[in-house]
Amino acid sequence: MAKQPIITVKNLVKKYDDFTAVNGISFEVFEGEIFGLLGPNGAGKTTTLEIIETLRDKTSGEITVDGFSIDKDTDSIKKRIGVQLQAAGYYPNLNLSELIVLFCGLYGIDKKPMEMLGKVALTDKAKSKYKDLSGGQKQRFSIATTLINDPRIIFLDEPTTGLDPQARRNLWELIKEIRDSGTTVVITTHYMDEAEVLCDRVAFIDGGNIIGIDTPDNFIDKLVATGFERKKQVKLANLEDVFITMTGKEWRED
Ligand code: ATP
Repeated sequence: MAKQPIITVKNLVKKYDDFTAVNGISFEVFEGEIFGLLGPNGAGKTTTLEIIETLRDKTSGEITVDGFSIDKDTDSIKKRIGVQLQAAGYYPNLNLSELIVLFCGLYGIDKKPMEMLGKVALTDKAKSKYKDLSGGQKQRFSIATTLINDPRIIFLDEPTTGLDPQARRNLWELIKEIRDSGTTVVITTHYMDEAEVLCDRVAFIDGGNIIGIDTPDNFIDKLVATGFERKKQVKLANLEDVFITMTGKEWRED
């Protein structure tokens, strides 16, 4: 079956005064995939993401999300997407369970906090405050909040930045589970290894331009077909594999 686009971006431009942060990019995100916007700091990833999320205005271009135009149907788009809040949005005196109830109230949706926390393996932290969580737990909680309204698409902006190797891998597994349960995932990252194992397709962004879109395998195969070879012999494992194997793969962030 042909893949259906769930997000279509055409000639998107964003200018901040006379600085062009996004320079006329076009791409599609297919239903049910993990799509990565991959690029260095300042490439325009967050700007692009926040425009699609209806949180920032575009300068020009056309965007359709799940069939709705961003110019006409902002409310319909908001109902269909899950967006991570900045950490400042988590009231310091509420525990995780209470925060979920608060968000449910904002969405007008009745969900059991334990069900939402269970999706991200945090039921044992239901009575903890957000500020007392580890980095990986904070990210998992933040992902739980994106799922409250049963979104068709969730957006994750650099979800693994600053996490240790185990917490990163746990988060990759969680994000794949979310994809496998039918939710499309759009993620930004500047970690190439992360995009390689996590994303079904990636778009490379540099200086506000998309310089390539494909699956990680196709990108690598095409490069290898040109005769490219890594200079150094690649070992069958790396230091991160050694660490993960020595310390175990289970949740370990307390
Ligand atoms: P990072 O990984 O550092 O977040 P990014 O790829 O997400 O990078 P953006 O945050 O989208 O990049 O920023 C793209 C460019 O636009 C940068 O040069 C940034 O300085 C600039 N920029 C972003 N927001 C604003 C703003 N509100 N006003 C002016 N310039 C901005």
